[in-house]
Amino acid sequence: MRAVVMRAFGAADVLAVEDVQAPDPGPGEALVRVGAVAVSRTRDVATRSGRHPFSKQVKELPHVLGGDFAGVVERVGPGVDEGLAGRRVVASCSATCGECAACRSGREPECPDLEMLGIHRWGSYAELVAVPMQSVHELPEDMGMAEAAALGSTGPIAGAQLALAGLAPGAWVLITGATGALGSTLTALATEQGARAIALSRRPEAVAGSPAATLDAAEEDLAGVLMELTGGAGVAAAIDNVCSADVFARYLPALAIGGRVVISGTIGMEVLPVPAGPFYLRGQSLLGLRTATPRDHEAFWAQVRAGFRLPADALRTLPIEAAAEAHAGIESGAAAGHAVLEIAP
Ligand SMILES: [Zn+2]
Repeated sequence: MRAVVMRAFGAADVLAVEDVQAPDPGPGEALVRVGAVAVSRTRDVATRSGRHPFSKQVKELPHVLGGDFAGVVERVGPGVDEGLAGRRVVASCSATCGECAACRSGREPECPDLEMLGIHRWGSYAELVAVPMQSVHELPEDMGMAEAAALGSTGPIAGAQLALAGLAPGAWVLITGATGALGSTLTALATEQGARAIALSRRPEAVAGSPAATLDAAEEDLAGVLMELTGGAGVAAAIDNVCSADVFARYLPALAIGGRVVISGTIGMEVLPVPAGPFYLRGQSLLGLRTATPRDHEAFWAQVRAGFRLPADALRTLPIEAAAEAHAGIESGAAAGHAVLEIAP
């Protein structure tokens, strides 16, 4: 089979398409013919660089990156219903043991046996990939592979962040990094759920979909603009997966009483300037969320079945040969929205 193989850590050009041995599905696994795979900044691009904690979890080279993807079940391993062959599916990138104390109490991301596709085992930048059945969800009939892969990699965590933000209908929510993959899904999902999304970006012209407002992250008087926009109430929540200290300091004065800042990622690992006063005097919270749980996946795909779709201008597809180009675009900040590799569309 053809796969994007990484023979060393380093710059994007370490990725090259090669012919490699196709995997066999183990017990409880399915072998899936990959239709499309999302290119992830953290899981793929950062791992490839060799400088991220995920890089150290790749046990040996050569390696194949790639997590959340959509495809068609080719065949199944021992103990799996053979009737699943031919089914269109979307697969998530992590699997857990299901038996430890963390898994049994709904804290699956803390499972010591958490296994990530494309990190701990060969991933889905390939024509065929073997995945545990617990990672597989049925793909809605009318949804294309590329959109499904993009939503699979961002929708469940976006849904979990919005739930944690606890937004009432019509509430204002600020979304940083709104041109990124997760940011564009968050903006669309918040709007779908009835919140008023304010998309914040260094490139406001590249924001996809139709948020309630779009602001330039470089705006000096960001808090002033936000207060005016919200009629003096401030934003009920900020979902900040960029965590630039400078931007945080400029939007924080516009966080409403009882407001929440929700974080599931940082780009530069910066230290945020958190003034203690407002956080207790105004009853505000700073909340971290590591990753989506299986329940978040269920809840998100239910919203998709109920009609949620990604704005078409948030999705960019590239052929498998352009994997290095997709990585370079994300690293340079030139890319906007979701980059998805189409393998067998
Ligand atoms: Zn576990």
